[in-house]
Amino acid sequence: MHEDHNALGVALGLRPTQPITLVRPHAAHRAARYFLEKFQGTSMYAVKANPSPDLIAALWEAGITHFDVASIAEVRLVRGLLPTATLCFMHPVKGAEAIAEAYHVHGVRTFSLDSEGELAKIVAATATDGVAAADLTLCVRLRVSSAHSKLSLASKFGVAAEDSAPLLMAARQAADALGLCFHVGSQAMSPQAYADAMAQVRAAIVAAGVTVDVVDVGGGFPSVYPGMEPIALAAYFEVIHRAFESLPVSYSAELWCEPGRALSAEYASVLVRVEARKDDVLYINDGAYGALFDAAHINWRFPAKLVREGGSRAKSMGFSFYGPTCDDMDFMRGPFELPADVRAGDYIELGMLGAYGSAMRTGFNGFTAGATIVARDEPMDSVYGEETALPDNVVTLRQK
Ligand SMILES: *Cc1c(COP(=O)(O)O)cnc(C)c1O
Repeated sequence: MHEDHNALGVALGLRPTQPITLVRPHAAHRAARYFLEKFQGTSMYAVKANPSPDLIAALWEAGITHFDVASIAEVRLVRGLLPTATLCFMHPVKGAEAIAEAYHVHGVRTFSLDSEGELAKIVAATATDGVAAADLTLCVRLRVSSAHSKLSLASKFGVAAEDSAPLLMAARQAADALGLCFHVGSQAMSPQAYADAMAQVRAAIVAAGVTVDVVDVGGGFPSVYPGMEPIALAAYFEVIHRAFESLPVSYSAELWCEPGRALSAEYASVLVRVEARKDDVLYINDGAYGALFDAAHINWRFPAKLVREGGSRAKSMGFSFYGPTCDDMDFMRGPFELPADVRAGDYIELGMLGAYGSAMRTGFNGFTAGATIVARDEPMDSVYGEETALPDNVVTLRQK
């Protein structure tokens, strides 16, 4: 990894022919500190948003000790990097072998589930010589609305609160600690999403009459993108804290959250090169099979900035992008706002790609990523703003 650059320095110095990932450990550090200082509970990092070992190390150094892992590969990855981290296996549908390896080899004690079948699978896979495990934290995943979120997670997993009593009672029998968890959908644009979900948690607890030790409000905390500017995350935390305090849970019950996007989005951007221009369409060297899956498939808009010495005085206009593969689907419909005089050979920085960006990259058609380079400048957008201080050891060249 090269060190100490910003996008312009990399473009001028290297003239890269492949997309370059610019990573900002200081941005991940700041996001982690924000959650650790303001969220009154345990903040876990949802590894699927970006499994980069450097990011995981940066979050750990900032104080994140709990990780939401969803596959045995993620379990092995994080355990290999962080022997003492707490890993929570929060995928509600797992293979029995994955559960067994996670429990017996990697020390995982927390598992989520949304069915009696999964509960039986967990109980069987974690038993030793026919004796059931006595140290499980079992989190029953509730189905909640994704109405306030840009990306739904409402259909695939979760048991409806009104149907959850038998499962909660059965899980209570098998668990040392019983939890309830949910996911309001990714990029939740209003804290009301969490208030509504907590009402479902309350209904489930009342219906089952069980003692609950953990309430896990999942991920969904938003980042800043063009056209999607959420209010401060602190306002989300307030709504969650207030709802948690009024739940009928044990006095010592714990509050958890599992941010993926919010801890990782600002960590990375991608520097791409324009290979050709046709009217308002730019052919760039990264795309749907690279870091721009969400831009292509769910029309997510990422901030775009021309990276050219001296900049441009042209007015801005909206562009769409074609990626490098031969596939028509490798298309990112804009508008991505850029100066009207963008031309072949220019570089563009696409921001906010630390979450669900590089994690989605494939090698389809022979197009792969170039180097990863540490940048010391600020991310293009930030939900954290100036109020959270950067760590002392970070040198920032604030871009204006
Ligand atoms: C994806 C996922 C997360 C992270 O969601 P974000 O919207 O990125 O915060 C957290 N928990 C679970 C169970 C998930 O599937």
